[in-house]
Amino acid sequence: MPIRLLPEEIASRIAAGEVVERPASVVKELVENSLDAHADRIEVETRDGGKSLIRVQDNGAGIAAAEVEIAFRRHATSKLENVEDLHRVATLGFRGEALASIASVSRITCTTRYTDETVGTRLRLEGGKIVHRGTTGRPPGTEMTIQDLFYNTPARRKFLHTDRTERRHIDGFLTRYAIAYPGVAFQVMHDGRETLRTPGNDDAREALLAVYGMDLGSNLLTIPTELTAEQPIKVGGFVGPTTVHRANRGYITLIINGRWVQDLRITYAIIQAYHTLLPTKRYPVAFVTVDLPPEEVDVNVHPAKTEVRFRDGDQVFRAVQRAVRATVVSEAPATAAWEPPRSSTSDATQTTRARLAGLKPATGQQFSFSQATGEQTSDSQGGGNAATDGTTTKGLDVRTTKSGATFESRLPPLRIVGQVATTFIVTEGPDGLYLIDQHAAHERVLYEQLLSHWSEGSIPSQPLLEPVTVTLPADEADRLEELLPTLSNLGLEVEVFGPGTFIVRALPAHLNGTAPQDLLADIASSEIGDSPIREDLEERMVRHICKRAAVKAGQVLSREEMEGLVHDLEKALNPRTCPHGRPTILQISLAQLTSQFERR
Ligand code: ADP
Ligand code: MG
Repeated sequence: MPIRLLPEEIASRIAAGEVVERPASVVKELVENSLDAHADRIEVETRDGGKSLIRVQDNGAGIAAAEVEIAFRRHATSKLENVEDLHRVATLGFRGEALASIASVSRITCTTRYTDETVGTRLRLEGGKIVHRGTTGRPPGTEMTIQDLFYNTPARRKFLHTDRTERRHIDGFLTRYAIAYPGVAFQVMHDGRETLRTPGNDDAREALLAVYGMDLGSNLLTIPTELTAEQPIKVGGFVGPTTVHRANRGYITLIINGRWVQDLRITYAIIQAYHTLLPTKRYPVAFVTVDLPPEEVDVNVHPAKTEVRFRDGDQVFRAVQRAVRATVVSEAPATAAWEPPRSSTSDATQTTRARLAGLKPATGQQFSFSQATGEQTSDSQGGGNAATDGTTTKGLDVRTTKSGATFESRLPPLRIVGQVATTFIVTEGPDGLYLIDQHAAHERVLYEQLLSHWSEGSIPSQPLLEPVTVTLPADEADRLEELLPTLSNLGLEVEVFGPGTFIVRALPAHLNGTAPQDLLADIASSEIGDSPIREDLEERMVRHICKRAAVKAGQVLSREEMEGLVHDLEKALNPRTCPHGRPTILQISLAQLTSQFERR
């Protein structure tokens, strides 16, 4: 298809938003273009974390001389023809915005030769304006060189992280695509040093080894293609045996129709497939590919195309869970290697119930509160959860609620009624009254937001308008100093300022509004620094930070604040418990209300 400007009716339906956030987004868009052009060799080179140079070179189809200029126009694409195509996108790109966006914030040189033409074209743009056009000799394929990213948007340049962090994001993307596309030989150089090279011989295991190394790579199990051979949803890839696990979800990758996407629910399907097979609080290593007909998945959801919407999400959930489970149990010892995790919440639930038992109806008879139907924390999935009215079926089936609907760990939409005792939010849902503990709920929301960024590589930090200095006693200062590298991974930028004194320059972006003094003092005085395992340390630190930053009981919340919090909680993966396992939400069903008021 020729490259052309999308008609307004299609352009207006493309998910709007900024594509180019950081060097890794540039690399992603360029590499996706190379893959769409059917390249089987892709070379990526960067300098200074991509800030001063990004070069992506491919041996794909190239761009015809007559189309090079239009390729840099907004909404110019060769990948969509009509509106219907938007519902069955089979290419990685389709928005026609990447080259235009990248060109507008950098100096870009494109040299390309279309397969059927004898000479190539060279086009240079600065800040989106063409400054040079010429011809050049070169083999078929395309080379894009991006210099000085964000040179003309200093505000955005300022928000870039260290070279190392930016490089980590670039590698995070490239390593995944290198495994997802084993037929493509990837070669990656950062500051003149080669960091990744795959053979491109179509052998996925070899690509996996090139990325993960012998130790981990050779341990992973292949999900047999026969498992889903007959089905419209094909599941493939690699999963760790039960002996391999990690402290966070960072080693779970999901590739949907050749695209690396974030999908909490399908990620959860993978975690759940290991139910009872891994120690508590440990997560599997998995690289799972899902292929399904393009019309079954909407990729036009997110500007950077990192999220998708399934036509039938439950079906995808089940297919993934079954395939992963079958692969894992075929290798697992006959009896579960680990005891099923016990519910960590029962004590807390009892306490809360006892506390709430004070709210009695006039008869003196006590309401029986039940923790709203749902899932425990991800690390104690379903383990002996007596408070759940969903039934747990053995084996691969997802849990179902009494009504037989597919189990949903998420919350139903809730309507705010008000706040009680400046501690609880009263809401109404499809089956009665739902009481939310504002502190526990906020902790959960912050925790998931931080973890999801953390598992992607880094937690975005937000510079303080005015850096704050904090002075601590020597021993605490010492402890804090040791924790500084960990803190910076978590988006907390703290430097030593003098003996016992620190300067806080930035907080995790989700936590603005938290007093940095309290946060630091709290971290320095806690025991959390004492774990030798880095990942554990970071995860515990995240929990700790959330506890500190969450709204407290006793804080008056405006209606907007309550709505925001409840809305965020509805979106959480495990909305029903706080990161420490206490319930966030209690339900009094309509049936309970009816019977208590003797309206039978
Ligand atoms: P999209 O990928 O959404 O179509 P882009 O702005 O990324 O939009 O690219 C615009 C067009 O330029 C593409 O549709 C494609 O035709 C062409 N193009 C970009 N990069 C390459 C490449 N590496 N090889 C061949 N064609 C390319
Ligand atoms: Mg593109």
